[in-house]
Amino acid sequence: MKAINTAVFAAALAGTLAAFASETLDLVPYPQEVKVLGGTYTAKSVDDLWPKAIRDPSLPKEGYRLTVDGTNGVSIACSGREGFMRALATLTQLGKSADGGKAEVFPCCEINDWPAFAWRGILFDDCRHFFGKEAVKKTLDAMARHKMNVFHWHLTEDQAWRLDIPKYPELVKYGAVRPESQNPECLGLPKMDGKPYGPYYYTESDVKEILAHAENLGIRVIPEIELPGHAVAAIAAYPELCCRGKLERRAPWCMWGVSDDIFCAGNDKTIKFLEDVIDYVTDLFPDAVVHIGGDEAPKGRWKECPKCQARIKALGLKNEAELQGWMVKHFTEYLAKKGKRAIGWDEITECNPPTATMIMCWRGANHGIAAAKKGHDVVMCPTSHCYMDYPQDADHKAKGYGKPAWAPVLSLEKVYTLDPLAGIPSEYHKHILGTQGNMWSEHILTPAEHEWKLWPRAAALAEIGWSGPGKHDFKDFKRRVDADMKRMEDEGWNVCR
Ligand SMILES: [Zn+2]
Repeated sequence: MKAINTAVFAAALAGTLAAFASETLDLVPYPQEVKVLGGTYTAKSVDDLWPKAIRDPSLPKEGYRLTVDGTNGVSIACSGREGFMRALATLTQLGKSADGGKAEVFPCCEINDWPAFAWRGILFDDCRHFFGKEAVKKTLDAMARHKMNVFHWHLTEDQAWRLDIPKYPELVKYGAVRPESQNPECLGLPKMDGKPYGPYYYTESDVKEILAHAENLGIRVIPEIELPGHAVAAIAAYPELCCRGKLERRAPWCMWGVSDDIFCAGNDKTIKFLEDVIDYVTDLFPDAVVHIGGDEAPKGRWKECPKCQARIKALGLKNEAELQGWMVKHFTEYLAKKGKRAIGWDEITECNPPTATMIMCWRGANHGIAAAKKGHDVVMCPTSHCYMDYPQDADHKAKGYGKPAWAPVLSLEKVYTLDPLAGIPSEYHKHILGTQGNMWSEHILTPAEHEWKLWPRAAALAEIGWSGPGKHDFKDFKRRVDADMKRMEDEGWNVCR
């Protein structure tokens, strides 16, 4: 490290001290307990900055204590990797560059911190559009900065299948390339864009690279394999898996929306195929939770299918909804035998899945409340607060991403009003695991736009999930998140500000 230019450093330090004069620090999410001690610590080298860490098994999994002392520098106490990573996230946000980047100045403080909720996630839809390994890793980095800990990876859809499974090579051969796509900016444009999209998919080694990156950051990765709906890309690869045994063309669906063609629940080959996929996925992904979809599964094909009707009769089921219930139960139990837990979208609550099945509430908080009352663990991500693909404001188009108003505006302030526990009797609070932002990608074409839509809204959800709802007012959050977004922008993120 070069010698410090004293005049420049003194000027920078004066500004920094002024910023520290307030009793709150520029942190997002804000820690549970903060004591600002006054004064600063200046790190002039990486060695100065590297914290002294002690292991304290009494601290919760992601909890930590962080002390910045004017003389002794930075020390961290935590019980393991997750707590250490959360402390580093705080440290990253605390530091302010000084002396033209040659030193870093930290406010002296004591922080005692832990998460309000265990699940603080982002859904990453790599199917409607594909963003790739580097975009995934960058998203994980941004999540870690905000103490988010669950990366929900949406890998299979009507519009694409993105995971190479060696036993079923046709999946990526047919399922990872679309002949064309519905134009994301339908207004004033032809309905279809006429451009082939793909092939884009992840190999086993790509996935392992991403898993290693996530593990280093203390982030869980939950893969999603959709069943029985949102399955056209898999059916394109293996048409015998659908009720009709064929599609009009052997390709993923090129429209956005909900396809009538879903997996045939009456065909033993379908069940075996999905078991094989789950075998592969559970071997590859270390997390204890696997998402099995379950949303938006129209039953028209099942009503007309002799195999599905025969299964309903043989099992003594009342109707097609109960057939989906049987399928959910089958795969929840199949996963349980492997020591894993299934999570599915809230529609499956209506087909009475086993209580161990976790529920992801998207249609509205009332569905999450109903699931919690039935004893399911629930992740709250209702469209009203958590759909990060919705426009950030009415002025969306002026910000450089010209989309029609295809969805309601979801402002930063509205996101910040989420209370995952609202309306839930206290005896069921233990079932509310937390929240996540869902970034569906029908209307998002590039990693840059993906980042722009996530930040700062994902930071609002991060704070609700970590600090807890109602802990700070929006004005205070806005001041802190503005500083946070400025830092992210300076470091190369495309944020909305
Ligand atoms: Zn069928």
